[in-house]
Amino acid sequence: MLRINGLTKAFGENVVLDGIDLEVARGEVVCLIGASGSGKSTLLRCLDLLEVTDDGDIWLDGEELTDPAIDVDRARREIGMVFQAYNLFPHLSVLDNVTIGPRRVLRQSKADAERRAHALLDRIGLNGKADAYPDALSGGQQQRVALIRAVAMQPKLLLLDEVTAALDPMLVGEVLDVVRDLKNEGHTIVMATHEMAFARECADRVVFLSGGVLIEEGTPEQIFTAPRDPRTREFLARYL
Ligand code: ADP
Ligand code: MG
Repeated sequence: MLRINGLTKAFGENVVLDGIDLEVARGEVVCLIGASGSGKSTLLRCLDLLEVTDDGDIWLDGEELTDPAIDVDRARREIGMVFQAYNLFPHLSVLDNVTIGPRRVLRQSKADAERRAHALLDRIGLNGKADAYPDALSGGQQQRVALIRAVAMQPKLLLLDEVTAALDPMLVGEVLDVVRDLKNEGHTIVMATHEMAFARECADRVVFLSGGVLIEEGTPEQIFTAPRDPRTREFLARYL
């Protein structure tokens, strides 16, 4: 589904991603781990075409995203991204937050978009909040809505950047439950996270970044129990 070859990105003199190679199969969940500043967010932002890359190429389902001639707006429709916080439009109801993209961009009818939105809200147990505004929801509820809002756009790829990092610890679990549910539904997900227990249980593959370099990748079992690189061992020692 996704193929990244030699992706390189610098901000001025600061090389933030240095020759990243990564492939993600359809339906796979890949967790990016690494210290703050290791390049996780920049990698996700490059995949979402929010950053211009300096070198290398990115392919999504056979299409080159790094082709300079690409229609960025159209290509970005295939990709759903959810950030740490402040994802919802505060002036729109929960229902309108979920339906605005499908209506405006996918040209779904109001009735169609709302039917789908209600079904998605039902799945996360928040259909009762359809008419509420985001500020009436807890942070965890808002992130759950943000996740299904991204899914409502029927993306080929979901990018999640520390979607639980801004939450009260008590609310982290309910958001990760939704991510797990999306995995079980077959979504292809690349997520940056510090939730090591979740990565261990839910990821198909774990990728460790340090200083913009992909140090090692493997199954959760391999990375968490038998990391090959001393930098991975040192990083994990602080979490496990
Ligand atoms: P992570 O998400 O792993 O914490 P980031 O991708 O946010 O890492 O950051 C990687 C490096 O890139 C850091 O050194 C950060 O300061 C730098 N960086 C990120 N965004 C910018 C930017 N817009 N301008 C300059 N430097 C940036
Ligand atoms: Mg980050």
